[in-house]
Amino acid sequence: MQYTEIMVRYGELSTKGKNRRSFIDRLHGNVEKVLHPFPTVRIHPKRDRMHLELNGADAQAVMDRLQVVFGIQSYSPSIKIAKEMPAIKELALALVQEQYQTGKTFKIATKRADHQFAYDTNQINLAIGDYISDQIPEIKAEMRHPDIKIQIEIRMDGAYLTSHTYRGSAGLPVGTAGKAMLMLSGGIDSPVAGYLAMKRGVEIEMVHFYSPPYTSEHALQKAQELTAKLASYTGQIKFIQVPFTEIQETIKQQVPEGYLMTIQRRLMLRLTDLIRQKRQALAIFNGESVGQVASQTLESMAAINAVTTTPIIRPVATMDKTEIIALAEKIDTFDLSIQPFEDCCTIFAPTRPRTKPRLDKAAQYEAQLDLDTLLKNALDKIEITNISLESHFLEAPNEEIQALL
Ligand code: ATP
Ligand code: MG
Repeated sequence: MQYTEIMVRYGELSTKGKNRRSFIDRLHGNVEKVLHPFPTVRIHPKRDRMHLELNGADAQAVMDRLQVVFGIQSYSPSIKIAKEMPAIKELALALVQEQYQTGKTFKIATKRADHQFAYDTNQINLAIGDYISDQIPEIKAEMRHPDIKIQIEIRMDGAYLTSHTYRGSAGLPVGTAGKAMLMLSGGIDSPVAGYLAMKRGVEIEMVHFYSPPYTSEHALQKAQELTAKLASYTGQIKFIQVPFTEIQETIKQQVPEGYLMTIQRRLMLRLTDLIRQKRQALAIFNGESVGQVASQTLESMAAINAVTTTPIIRPVATMDKTEIIALAEKIDTFDLSIQPFEDCCTIFAPTRPRTKPRLDKAAQYEAQLDLDTLLKNALDKIEITNISLESHFLEAPNEEIQALL
């Protein structure tokens, strides 16, 4: 079928009252970014729907991109024709025939924005339904669970027919919830945490610690490639790399082995929080999961978290590793994450970290360091780059769902 339009249904937006306009504007901007490679597409953001006029662009290629945009409940490719009953009948029949096999049932569902149109929705449903029954005598109409559902919309500028509806990514448009920093390692968990943050409308900027020459160029590249994967959801993400070598070497010399990990993490968090402040972000996300490793016991979290009152959000905190891996596979970060390039925490990891560090001890050891200089030196050398969306997209097929009018 030669589709002329994709009709996009908003997700949770509908419930957002007076914020609706800004939600729609943000979604519009995000759709525009991912559809950048399709210059003919015209986006019409309406109050309750968004219409994408294809002007010759390939519907399937456009839908593949929509699949990753948060804030979309579902989308349907549709065909525009003249608002004349004979034309509507022929197109409806062709759409049914495209899917029809013996035994399949159908339904016609009409919506009318043009109230001047000569027929009301019931009359249209009946007229089109009768025509299809005449042409395919053995087909049965079924109102509750039809196999084939043809949706007809009579708008001011024409009639639009749809026969397939696909599930969108749901969530909220990225950016509507404000900005936060994501502590991104090269591991499995933090990219998943980033995906979940974006799903709730949070714009994220990556903070990545690296320790040359202990960590290789590959480890840095891996974090950048993970960022590129996540940029598929928004078009672009800022990548902030923070040199951590001096801090790690200093801590290694001055802090007892059992507290190496705790103090390192406290300094990572302090630095991330300082960067957050400069970048005017509101919160910090990380990939910690309760009980997963020594640094992620509740005692550890308490001792590390104490350096700031900024909200620290841990989207995968209560997920099992297998659940996190399933999501990592879904968002296509898993294969990258398991590449064996060690990050700075692994290399400086003490052999026997305290699983229940005491906050007073941690603060006491930290007080022996020249904290201001260490933090300033690292901040002076941060580098910020823009990482754009990759040319590749999620390869999952568009998932068809029961149509909703
Ligand atoms: P991940 O799979 O995300 O690496 P992990 O289970 O390996 O997590 P840790 O290495 O203990 O756990 O790290 C816990 C969290 O601390 C990470 O999810 C990430 O948010 C943050 N983190 C760890 N290393 C770095 C790093 N080099 N740069 C930025 N953040 C980091
Ligand atoms: Mg890790």
